[in-house]
Amino acid sequence: MHGLMMRAQLTVNSLIEHAAKFHGDTEIVSRTVEGPIHRTTYGEAFHRVHKLAGVLAGLGVGNGDRVATLAWNGYRHLELYFAISGMGAVCHTINPRLFPDQITFIVGHAADKVIFVDLTFVPVLEAIAGGLSGVNAIVIMTDNDHMPETSLPNALCFEDLMAGASEGFDWPEIDENTASSLCYSSGTTGNPKGVLYSHRSTVLHSFAACSHDGLALSAADSILPVVPMFHVNAWGIPYGAAMAGAKLVLPGAGMDGGSVWELLDNERVTLAAGVPTIWMLLLQYLKESGKSLPHLERTIIGGSALPQSMIETFEETYDVAAIHAWGMTEMSPLGTTAHLKGKMQDLPDVEKMAYKVKQGRPVYGVDIKIVDDDYQSLPHDGVAFGELCVKGPWIVGDYYEDADASEQAKTDDGWFRTGDVCTIDAEGFMLIVDRSKDVIKSGGEWISSIELENIAVGHDAVAEAAVIGAPHAKWGERPLLVCVLNNGASVSGDDLIQFYDGKIPKWSWPDAVEFVDELPHTATGKIQKLKLRETYSDYKFASE
Ligand code: ADP
Repeated sequence: MHGLMMRAQLTVNSLIEHAAKFHGDTEIVSRTVEGPIHRTTYGEAFHRVHKLAGVLAGLGVGNGDRVATLAWNGYRHLELYFAISGMGAVCHTINPRLFPDQITFIVGHAADKVIFVDLTFVPVLEAIAGGLSGVNAIVIMTDNDHMPETSLPNALCFEDLMAGASEGFDWPEIDENTASSLCYSSGTTGNPKGVLYSHRSTVLHSFAACSHDGLALSAADSILPVVPMFHVNAWGIPYGAAMAGAKLVLPGAGMDGGSVWELLDNERVTLAAGVPTIWMLLLQYLKESGKSLPHLERTIIGGSALPQSMIETFEETYDVAAIHAWGMTEMSPLGTTAHLKGKMQDLPDVEKMAYKVKQGRPVYGVDIKIVDDDYQSLPHDGVAFGELCVKGPWIVGDYYEDADASEQAKTDDGWFRTGDVCTIDAEGFMLIVDRSKDVIKSGGEWISSIELENIAVGHDAVAEAAVIGAPHAKWGERPLLVCVLNNGASVSGDDLIQFYDGKIPKWSWPDAVEFVDELPHTATGKIQKLKLRETYSDYKFASE
């Protein structure tokens, strides 16, 4: 027997329609690439989204065609999100920090028909122009006054096209399982893999993002996604904010501490989201400038492990809740958040902290389990660790046009293998011990590089730390700590190693420390462990 409720489709268009209808005067504020702060509203954006859909149709974009963007977080990018998906095409966000070869590969693999590009990234496209022969048009996301000289053939101007567009574009009826957007995981090994989200998965993920123990997006919030719209759709915040009717503050290229602080303060941001590196820059800026965070209530931090010292600084110095979250491109990305349960509220602070530093418990819609090498489920006791597998309606079923990668990532019973090695405790809180390829195998023991990094950044002198397993004649691998010190700070390698005393067993302390000016980062802001392992592949420990 079927239920008798309306069969309304869950579509991306419905999100912006809702925002325009019921939160029409709520602001969308952008730091533009051209310079000034730009202000619009959901009402105006909806109007422009319609015109933009007409522009796309005029460029020959039809149902299911892929339209790429290479752009910062800004209002034109937001309009593209809704216009492209809304007209039945697929919004393909490209990470401009990828290597040129990877971008060429991705554009070809996705068979992008049109590319929209921010002024900053025009040179990125110019450098790979020879590999873009399948692309029909390139639109530069600016107005006529700011159009650059470019060697790109037939570059069009976004605002010129908008000025010439007609008003009355009719949205097509869209089945909720239609593809809406496409994002390639950065692929530390091999080629990037395409994750093709649907309207339905995007809307369901938005509900999760709005839920209180998700990201708790609300109409009372002013939200700053520092996480880029070219990285897993800015963690789904543009869609979730429209669903909630929240004010959106889009930082453009301004990721430095001062620029982020200016927006946090001027736009009375209550909720911000980003990777730990961004918050490290902000906290350094706050310390040096003596500024505070009077409006910010909470910050969602994920993408890499959130160190305890960062949670403490946010809470104790700035009265801001730092909420740890975990996810993946393959998961739209929301998987777990470390919101405490009711019964944990009265625990002593140290016990609360033990939960807050974990990656957290699943939001409804995401199921998790850990398995051993024989794919046997391991207990949720907070001790046993194994590969994390996940399942749910906003988790990738198959990669886009990549049967081999799909085969490797799926289990026979329909779970997705994350490649993260984790524990899950009795409360359902998951802790990432490591990426399976980053875990340090010393003798018969496993050492978590993440745990060692978190301790290192708790030292006052340390700005950023990476720990890798470097080859060791006796133990196979031993942990090598590579770190960047804060401006003007100094500490010896021996003192830094002693800092581990009393925190973890001695056999798992780093064996040696290397100081560097800068650590290599991936296109998504994670430390490039692979590169570090290459750099230190011939490392000789004193103990050898
Ligand atoms: P990429 O494109 O680099 O793969 P993703 O965001 O999809 O970017 O990366 C997902 C991976 O990032 C996860 O599998 C996990 O290893 C790591 N990650 C994400 N969030 C966290 C976190 N809170 N703590 C530790 N690692 C994290």
